[in-house]
Amino acid sequence: MHKRVAVLDVMIDAVTMTEAVDILDSYVSQSKPHLVATANAEMVMMAQNDKELANILNKADLVVPDGAGVVWAARFKGFEVPERVAGVDLVQNFLVRSVQKNYRIFLFGGAPGVAEKAKAAAKSRYPGVQIVGTRNGFFTEETEKDIIDEINASGANVLLVALGVPKQEKWLSRNLEKLSVSLAIGVGGTLDVMAGAVKRAPLWMQRANLEWLFRLTLQPQRVLRMIALPHFVLKVITQKT
Ligand code: UDP
Repeated sequence: MHKRVAVLDVMIDAVTMTEAVDILDSYVSQSKPHLVATANAEMVMMAQNDKELANILNKADLVVPDGAGVVWAARFKGFEVPERVAGVDLVQNFLVRSVQKNYRIFLFGGAPGVAEKAKAAAKSRYPGVQIVGTRNGFFTEETEKDIIDEINASGANVLLVALGVPKQEKWLSRNLEKLSVSLAIGVGGTLDVMAGAVKRAPLWMQRANLEWLFRLTLQPQRVLRMIALPHFVLKVITQKT
């Protein structure tokens, strides 16, 4: 059994990629809906001031170490974290498993057209994958019930929600019990990456823990959000001493 470790009071599951895929798989076989989050430094920093997000994360069934910053922070505090489990990679690995197990996936989120493109990409990359529904992530509160009805009518047992942090976690937490899926994951920009709308950092940058820098050069509008990163590092260091 893996450990849960605290990074600035957010509990992170110290799992490997393989363990994470197996855990997600075990959730699908249960009828209760499970909420899974992928935590990076930005999310942990957001949770410092957003108690609703902090509560959701601490109640989530699984929180994987999505970002290099979170892995660094946990290790800095002396915890063992086997590896980074990037949400986008976890989703790809889980789609492979979903083909084997005939899971039915619903893609919810992103700009109009993104989920459809992500579905087309998934179908060519993972032949036999069942993407049973798609819906863009721009909606008003009045359509929320329609969205839930659509997801439930699709027969999906797995829901990927890409509304950005913390919107996706809050939407999921609010609606989890109304959904008939047994696994729901907040996946951030994953559908954009799958659709080819946003590029992933080259492997050498991922390995050098520089994926955040690549994202910054690609999406300079993220600079304000990324100011959270040096704050995160400082906070982790000063909390220890
Ligand atoms: N998004 C959405 N609805 C919204 C706001 C955002 O569907 O109301 C989508 C957006 O189009 C993008 C994703 O949410 O596909 C957020 O991606 P980002 O890379 O910002 O994810 P994060 O870093 O927050 O995990």
